[in-house]
Amino acid sequence: MNTFKNGKFNLSGESLTDNFELLTKALDASISGIIITDNNQPDNPIVYCNKAFELISGYQRSEIIGHNCRFLQKDDRAQAARQEISDCVKNGMECRVEIRNYRKNGDLFWNELYMSPVKDKSGQITHFIGVQNDITTRKKAEQDLRQQKDLMEKKIDERTAELRDSEAFLSSIIQTVRESLLVLDPQFNVLSANDHFLKTFKVTAEETVGKHLYELGNHQWDIPQLKELLMKILPTNNPVVDFEVEHDFPHIGRKLMLLNAYRVELEGQYKDQILLAIEDITDRREIERRKDDFLSIASHELKTPLTTIKGYIQALQRMVSTEAGDRFRTTLDKVAVYVERLNNLIAELLDVSRIQSGNIELHKTFFNFDAMVGETIDAMQISTPSHHFALKGSTKALIEGDESHLIQVINNLLSNAVKYSPESKEIFIHLSRVSEYVKVSVTDYGLGISPEDQKKVFERFFRVGDVQERFPGMGIGLYICDQIIKNHKGTLWVESNKGEGSTFSFTLPIGGGNTNGN
Ligand code: ADP
Repeated sequence: MNTFKNGKFNLSGESLTDNFELLTKALDASISGIIITDNNQPDNPIVYCNKAFELISGYQRSEIIGHNCRFLQKDDRAQAARQEISDCVKNGMECRVEIRNYRKNGDLFWNELYMSPVKDKSGQITHFIGVQNDITTRKKAEQDLRQQKDLMEKKIDERTAELRDSEAFLSSIIQTVRESLLVLDPQFNVLSANDHFLKTFKVTAEETVGKHLYELGNHQWDIPQLKELLMKILPTNNPVVDFEVEHDFPHIGRKLMLLNAYRVELEGQYKDQILLAIEDITDRREIERRKDDFLSIASHELKTPLTTIKGYIQALQRMVSTEAGDRFRTTLDKVAVYVERLNNLIAELLDVSRIQSGNIELHKTFFNFDAMVGETIDAMQISTPSHHFALKGSTKALIEGDESHLIQVINNLLSNAVKYSPESKEIFIHLSRVSEYVKVSVTDYGLGISPEDQKKVFERFFRVGDVQERFPGMGIGLYICDQIIKNHKGTLWVESNKGEGSTFSFTLPIGGGNTNGN
């Protein structure tokens, strides 16, 4: 019969070897807890435990020996691992389980238990050896990891659902807008097309979705310049803005389409997709053309009789005898002034239509820039006693340009400065040379222009909303000025604060942009 005395394991009836004490010491030195149970005694009691087991369990050897291992589970009995152990004891098998155990002080620890049977010569199981390791830290890490993973998965699920909602929201907008829209992948294959696109181009979804953009219809979008622009969208995020395509489209005939393309951005995140918006501007362009034609014809038609009237008035002024009454003469002079004003308005309208048709002609000569500006201001000062013009600086430049057109620009800026500053009297004109340019600035302390309106004042027929009723005008003066300055390779711009005043400035290259000298 095997016995265990004074912490030493003796095999009764068999010879004790000298090595036995050494073996016991070796077991005590192990960092794994080791127990041995006696299978031949009732309830399989523990007959040996090493020091590490005492450390792990918190019990002393005296409290361990003679007990069945189940005391380690305290009340936590319903563990699947316990069934595994009892099956393995019953069947004389070895097993490895992870089981919740409790230290003497009640703290839970996870025990990785390896149990194996010891058999005698006849094959009968005499003992079980249990090797135990405290894997609480590992278990906790595993559990934390699992919790983290669950949390992440939950978050990913929530985020995916949110994105799906936003995408559904987005696609419902895409379907509703009255503009043709295509979503393209990075290779320019069509991922989706909205109803408006299908209706406009009289095509089906099957003919469109999954096809390459450049193969659609009769290859209408296969344009080298457009291709180049589209290729830049994803890598540089530069959109395609207002690209016009005039083409004979299948089913719908000759049309003018306006293309805008952007990289798709969803909730601040860029996706590798392109949204291509296509607008049919054929009718709009036709209406604009008719309006321009009308303007051109009307101003031409008005100009002819007006020139005749002007001629007759001049003749009348010459014919009036000195005896004629003052009243008659001043009335005639007034008629002449108003006819001249009408003539100027019609001349402006004619300018607009010439600019539109690209027929504006420049008659360039060399002239003294400062003298031209000075004389224009002087003439304006005589006819405008309500305001005071102060000229500062000089350019001392000889400019090559169309003098009468540039006088027109300065007159326009000065008369605007007067018109839009009814409460303030001072208008400053500043001349300077900046590098190979001359610069002119006209400053008033009048109404000023809001930042949004500043962007539009150089557009044709634009007038700031709140001045429309108070001040007469057609909204074409600045448009003409801008075009004239552009034709001279210069720039015209405005700086202004609403309610404080405005400064309109332009630059012109000295030498008409052909030379960089004087
Ligand atoms: P018009 O004066 O005939 O309306 P313009 O093309 O000269 O046409 O000017 C366009 C618009 O810009 C004006 O209607 C006015 O609203 C605004 N604007 C132009 N100059 C000034 C200025 N000096 N101060 C404030 N607003 C101005």
